[in-house]
Amino acid sequence: MAGLEVDYTGCKFHALTVLHLAGTVKHGRNNVKVWLCECVCGKTLDVDQASLLKGQKPACKTCRRGPCVICGAPIDNDDWGVKRNTCSDVCQKEQRRQNGRRSYYKLIELDPDHNKKRHKARQAADPLYEKKRYQLRLKRLNALPEKQRQAVIQKQNEYTNLWRSNYVKRLKAEDYPAYLKYRSAMNAYFRQWYKAHKLALKEANTDCQ
Ligand SMILES: [Zn+2]
Ligand SMILES: [Zn+2]
Repeated sequence: MAGLEVDYTGCKFHALTVLHLAGTVKHGRNNVKVWLCECVCGKTLDVDQASLLKGQKPACKTCRRGPCVICGAPIDNDDWGVKRNTCSDVCQKEQRRQNGRRSYYKLIELDPDHNKKRHKARQAADPLYEKKRYQLRLKRLNALPEKQRQAVIQKQNEYTNLWRSNYVKRLKAEDYPAYLKYRSAMNAYFRQWYKAHKLALKEANTDCQ
């Protein structure tokens, strides 16, 4: 290309229009011409002549990236590579979340027992797994705002009460001795609980009066 002295001013290459010659840069032993171009979006950028003629840079970086895949806004941070297709860290996080969810659903579709198997494997590997899981759940619950926390607790209690009453009804109908055993066990448990908390309960009651 060294011998070609063509003036490309005003020529269009894909989305770029050449404004004027910006200068030359050294590529090894060759001097390469660099043209100042204007993209259809109004941005100006320097493009070397070879890339311009081969169509390796058909538009400015923002236009080559396209809009953000999450919110549709243009991506105009020049520090990021062309492959990045989200406009901000928030959108990137959302994109990762969506990708993760998509692959999870794919996995569940292939193997509906995937979660059960995973939990069983973890239980076998770590004897404290259930305890840790419970503590993590508690920690997440306690991190919620008070109003939301109370709502979650209420919902959990409703669910637990419903489940227990259904369980007791079913047990009573299907297996009466087991039902009696369950009742005596529950009574013993509550008696024990009352004994342990008697003092605290008394104090709480005297506080109220
Ligand atoms: Zn552009
Ligand atoms: Zn976005």
